[in-house]
Amino acid sequence: MSHNTDTSNLTGLPVSGTSRIVVTTKSPLTGTIGDTQAGGFFPAYFKGNGWDALVIRGKAAEPVYLYIDGDSVTLKPANHLWGKVTGEVERLVKDELEDQHLEIAQIGPGGENLVKYACIINHCNRANGRNGTGAVMGSKNLKAIVLKKKKLSGPLDQEGLSALRGNVKDKIQNNPAIAGLGQHGTDGDLDAFNELGFLPTKNWTSGWFPEGADQITGTTMSETVLTDRDTCDACAVRCKRVVEVPGKVDPLYGGPEYESAAALGSYCAITSLETVSQANQLCNMYGLDTISCGGTIAFIMECYEKGLLSDEITRGLELNYGNQEVMLRLIEMIAKREGIGNLLAEGSARVAQKIGGEALGFTMSVKGQELPAHMPQFKPWVGLIYAVNPFGALDTYYQFAGWDV
Ligand code: SF4
Repeated sequence: MSHNTDTSNLTGLPVSGTSRIVVTTKSPLTGTIGDTQAGGFFPAYFKGNGWDALVIRGKAAEPVYLYIDGDSVTLKPANHLWGKVTGEVERLVKDELEDQHLEIAQIGPGGENLVKYACIINHCNRANGRNGTGAVMGSKNLKAIVLKKKKLSGPLDQEGLSALRGNVKDKIQNNPAIAGLGQHGTDGDLDAFNELGFLPTKNWTSGWFPEGADQITGTTMSETVLTDRDTCDACAVRCKRVVEVPGKVDPLYGGPEYESAAALGSYCAITSLETVSQANQLCNMYGLDTISCGGTIAFIMECYEKGLLSDEITRGLELNYGNQEVMLRLIEMIAKREGIGNLLAEGSARVAQKIGGEALGFTMSVKGQELPAHMPQFKPWVGLIYAVNPFGALDTYYQFAGWDV
């Protein structure tokens, strides 16, 4: 199986929103083509090192990481990094290469253990989240791709780019909708979605989460755990969240976006922003897609509430909606494939097949991938995209279908 990583023609240039990188593999989750995007600084540095795309074939005999410094590409041993969470790996690799400015895209223990929805994390808080591409890196014994900090010197035609770009930065900063995105992040709209009745709740059995939406929304985040706003290379929006709960949540791991707050919050009826932030941190530490992880946990909670699970499956765990302790425990068990985590690491569609009967109707997935937090009942064009997208349930491409469809 090959693993392709590529950027766009604009990546690395001073244009908001263009520091994006796509990873394409066969998806272990859907069995079809997998595709997933991330932002941050890794994409711009990738381009700055002179690379448009990278194709990785084959498998290393032992764990390795790939170090790129311009044209120099080196495979380095990574046995000492295997089993470690993303924050530790960042620190160890920067120390051993004596460079604190490296950008690192890596898998966590989730990818090493071939969790079907393992992701690739860069900067400890940006994710190529969907389709299980982290498990493909894990299957190749490739722990990380490490980049020297290098920026493009500029476009060939600076005047042409300036003319095309115009005053887009001012327009972004003066647009109230985009200013709100910067102020409260993508999670700033969660309570409005709830008011309108399309916030997926309790494994999508409702679009309304009256007992908890105002606790986990972006405005509450701004007033409580938010310590900073972060950005991607060259972007004027600054929508990324940085949160901290002393002794529990490290700002290194960023903060929850809308999809993560919904999947790890309302999907599972979790009413605590602190718990959602901890769950988001665990996913970033262990390299798990927040959407499929939350979606799979919500699925098993519905099965538990409806009495479909045997003791052999639960092994004493109480999997009720809203159980904050069990939520956090399950994420670690999934990443390590321990106990029920070994089953849940396969994703809700495969677990439903194993349980059978009524459970088959409770997996909220397309082609085996859990739905992102946009309800097709209220956004029909999203339903169409979910249905026909070769990547399974993925909303990244709905913008291209047009909001007016
Ligand atoms: S800061 Fe937000 S809006 Fe800007 S590129 Fe990153 S994800 Fe996109």
